[in-house]
Amino acid sequence: MNKKPLISVHEARKHLAKELTTVAGVETVSLDEAQSRILAEDIPAGIDVPGYDNSAMDGFALNTNDFITVGKTLPVSQVVKAGTNPEALLAGSAARIFTGAPIPKGADAIVLQEDCDFDEFTVKVKEAPEVGQHIRCRGHDIKAGSVVFKQGRRLMPQDIGLLASLGTDSLRVYKRLRVAIINTGDELVEPGQMLQAGQIYESNSYTLKALLGRLGFQCIDFGIVGDELEATRQVLARAAEEADCIISSGGVSVGDADFVKAALQELGEVAMWKLALKPGKPFTYGKVNSVPFFGLPGNPVAVFVTFALLVKPYLLGMQGMQDMKRTECKSIQVAAGFTIEQPGSREEYLRVCVEEDKSGKQQLIAFSNQGSSVMSSLSWADGLARIPCETLVKKGDLLDYLPFEGLL
Ligand code: AMP
Ligand code: MG
Repeated sequence: MNKKPLISVHEARKHLAKELTTVAGVETVSLDEAQSRILAEDIPAGIDVPGYDNSAMDGFALNTNDFITVGKTLPVSQVVKAGTNPEALLAGSAARIFTGAPIPKGADAIVLQEDCDFDEFTVKVKEAPEVGQHIRCRGHDIKAGSVVFKQGRRLMPQDIGLLASLGTDSLRVYKRLRVAIINTGDELVEPGQMLQAGQIYESNSYTLKALLGRLGFQCIDFGIVGDELEATRQVLARAAEEADCIISSGGVSVGDADFVKAALQELGEVAMWKLALKPGKPFTYGKVNSVPFFGLPGNPVAVFVTFALLVKPYLLGMQGMQDMKRTECKSIQVAAGFTIEQPGSREEYLRVCVEEDKSGKQQLIAFSNQGSSVMSSLSWADGLARIPCETLVKKGDLLDYLPFEGLL
């Protein structure tokens, strides 16, 4: 028996953040392929956005001085539509103008059409306009030469649009991380096959592939390996040749059929194992021939929780993401709608839903069966609630709630 104290999730995260190194490869992708990719270069703006002063509204462009000198009614001297290049504003006149259209030289304000009486030839402006009103100035969004995104930025959908607004059509990003997946267990059978007595369907790799795919990583599936030291050693060695990182599930407990740790010790090193985490205690981190290795527990809920809390931030860091704060899920405080009367010795992550109580206040409801093999708890839930170790919970106590949208 190993008597080492369990490592807290916080400590594990800190340790892992120090360990990771960014994958080396860089490639050029088109803007359409850049979603969720991580920039391998700074992006300076080549142009001002917008590139010219333009109208934020449909209305009339005029010079505020004319309103005082000429009066409230002005002749309409031109029509300026988006996509055209207007003439300078005739002194003492107004220009009919539409949203996005360039401001004619000499105009310094836009009056909303709702605030005017107008026909094709004249416009009567009811109230004195202010200089600059409803004008979107050149460069007010982005200034040419400014760094829009730094190397290490993970591109969000809105970033893709912003890059397009600069005229960018391709980018240098880090090559997709190749992640090997290995499943251990004599009882495991691929979905689609017939089950024999004592067998179960292998599901962890499917969860992992879905999680990894969502993050934009490449999966290399090494399938199922039986509970046997030599086979485990061989598949780990092969995976280390082909992948940037290896994730296995199962075989990391201290049972007689758990060979992952032993194989790891032969091929590389075991840097960390056993977390003060529920579910997810038998978690292993190490290196196989210097390739980072995560040995996740076998139980499906523990796979999901350890991946979301520890593996995801690590992989995003490896993939080049600089802002590590963004790799972790931000928790929200929500009141517990349940009690915990027995304090736990490990930090626990409960599968919860957010519901409204009778007064319309949000509260967390916990799934009835929190067993680490109960996959239906994860599909039922909206997210996880963190219960610190040695903590009792009364109804109404505020808990850290981690919604799946942020966690995955
Ligand atoms: P282990 O850590 O290998 O003792 O596995 C713990 C539990 O998780 C056992 O009930 C296994 O049958 C189950 N398990 C392990 N690997 C998988 C997998 N890939 N898919 C589904 N269940 C698994
Ligand atoms: Mg096993």
